[in-house]
Amino acid sequence: MQARVRALETILTEKGLVDPQALDRIVDAFERKIGPRNGARIVARAWSDSAFRARLLADATEAANSMGFSSPVGAHLIAVENTPETHNLVVCTLCSCYPWEVLGLPPVWYKSAPYRSRAVIEPRAVLAEFGVALPPDTRIRVWDSTAETRFLVIPMRPPGTQGWSEERLAALVTRDSMIGTGLAKRP
Ligand code: FE
Repeated sequence: MQARVRALETILTEKGLVDPQALDRIVDAFERKIGPRNGARIVARAWSDSAFRARLLADATEAANSMGFSSPVGAHLIAVENTPETHNLVVCTLCSCYPWEVLGLPPVWYKSAPYRSRAVIEPRAVLAEFGVALPPDTRIRVWDSTAETRFLVIPMRPPGTQGWSEERLAALVTRDSMIGTGLAKRP
């Protein structure tokens, strides 16, 4: 796949159809500027503003786009909230559908066949491999992304963060915590 991508990029560049520097800037934007910091800012706002949290759970596309990000959410975005009772985990069993606009580029493992099948068959074992051990009575709910529907997990707010600013809270929100394969960092 990498060789094919390189060959395609070379041909398109030679024909003058793409500018490699522009491509680098687009990839860089998705890797470092857009994702996953946009998602983290959304989660941090949901943690600190209950009206925004309600709006996010009602219509995540609308709530995310209200934050004025440079790359608006196109597909239907659904926010699912972790609680002590239920932990949410996101996968795309068919391919690699992922909320790019809020999380940036998907990690390699997200696109791998083992993750895509095992997240559904044995989510608890997959979570353990990511270092996430949930209480045995916590229910795990797995969400299967599609081309039309993407999911954003709102991780539980870590204890000891009362009164924190949104900016400070956002630093605790990891990419994996918004996929469900991780938890928010402890302060
Ligand atoms: Fe997909």
